[in-house]
Amino acid sequence: LTDVKAEGNHLLHDDCMTPDLVTALEIPERSVLRAFDINGPRYTSYPTADRFVESFDAARWTLHANAPRPGAVKPRDRGVSVYVHVPFCPDVCFYCACNKIVTRDPAKIERYLGYLEREIAARGAVARERGKVARVHFGGGTPNVLSEPQFKRILVALKQAFEVDAEPELSIEIDPRVTSTAQLAMLAQLGFVRLSMGVQDFDPDVQKSIRRIQPEEMTAAALRDARSFGFRSINIDLIHGLPRQTLASYERTIERTLALAPDRIATFGYAHLPARFPAQRRIVDAELPTAEARLDMQCLALVRCTQAGYVALGMDHYARPDDSLAVAFRHGVMQRNFQGYDTHASSELIGVGVSAISATPLSYSQNHRSLDDYYSAIDADEIPVARGIELGADDLLRRDIIASLMCRFVVDKSAIEESHLVDFDTHFAVEIDALAPHVKAGLVMLTPEAIEVTARGRWLVRVIAMVFDRHLQSTAGMHRYSRVM
Ligand code: SF4
Repeated sequence: LTDVKAEGNHLLHDDCMTPDLVTALEIPERSVLRAFDINGPRYTSYPTADRFVESFDAARWTLHANAPRPGAVKPRDRGVSVYVHVPFCPDVCFYCACNKIVTRDPAKIERYLGYLEREIAARGAVARERGKVARVHFGGGTPNVLSEPQFKRILVALKQAFEVDAEPELSIEIDPRVTSTAQLAMLAQLGFVRLSMGVQDFDPDVQKSIRRIQPEEMTAAALRDARSFGFRSINIDLIHGLPRQTLASYERTIERTLALAPDRIATFGYAHLPARFPAQRRIVDAELPTAEARLDMQCLALVRCTQAGYVALGMDHYARPDDSLAVAFRHGVMQRNFQGYDTHASSELIGVGVSAISATPLSYSQNHRSLDDYYSAIDADEIPVARGIELGADDLLRRDIIASLMCRFVVDKSAIEESHLVDFDTHFAVEIDALAPHVKAGLVMLTPEAIEVTARGRWLVRVIAMVFDRHLQSTAGMHRYSRVM
């Protein structure tokens, strides 16, 4: 532990002043981390989904999906993305904060697919002209509970409803406990090229405490199979802050993960919000690691992953230098979307399935979260939109700033001024003043041309982005968010 702290505090310090985006993170002092470790959004969108309102309904989505695109379309935004939500899981994991339905009843899944096909057809009837579908992502829940005919049904429905690229990028979240060699071969055959595997922790005792028993060999076999079938950009998700985790046990998990050499590693912090997520009430509070221990784990992940040659893309994402995400980061074009960091943005996103989120250049919207409401809307021949938000000029301006901070760790004031026709320093005088404590702590540098997040500030980039979030100007409702560290 002493070694990690000592090494962490000086990690790649000499690189901190280089302008290269690939400068590694530097770990700030504990007093700074503690002072800025507040609750805050993860900014997979701005405004964040908790700002969506019910007055944005299916009619508003239809209006936006038919509207001409505003201004020039940025090259990275080209092509339509589709997100397919498959909410079913055979068992519940106690840490889960996803919108899932625990069932092993194949009839329930079949019924859902019927509705999904109807939603895809209805969305296509409105939005076919938005452009070619370039990417399809299956998320959940556990999307790999679907069988080959069921995957085919969805892909056929998409091809009938939309114009789809000859070779769209197909990606999927996989639960290794549910997959098999045959299933991974089938997915590769269907054209899936990217996958993300949930692991969370390899320690058997931690796995017991979260009710997710997943032997290491099971994960290793799924990864080997996926590689042999040609999948690229294989990601492993880990979580720190889980019950019964210790620094030593987490270190073993990191080492085993590195031994598997995935292309990407995400190390999320567990957000314990039992009032919001009933499954988390089964977690024993007394078994949770302390805030200090969580910080140690996060530091350790950074030290070990970067020592092993991974590029640190922010405080919790790592990629091998030749992975497309690391390349995008190096070139300053990494983006943020509802799946986290990615190589593309989501300004044309069709989300289908219960709770799925859609985006047009000037709106976000979300489907009904309960199956009953979702089915009722489709039975009434409606697009199943439950809520959403229209983006005004101020939202677009702040979205650009927050995206730039989160993905590139710098805001180029003149680029913002040109795009949004504002005088940056006058328009954001209050926000610039509010950054004084961050500047004092060495997290941010203010220059006449830019706001630059320092190497040590990258750990706390969410706190810096929060300064520009108009919706957070009152502190009401902050309890909805998890801690930033
Ligand atoms: S964590 Fe994933 S696999 Fe576990 S219950 Fe939640 S959605 Fe299902």
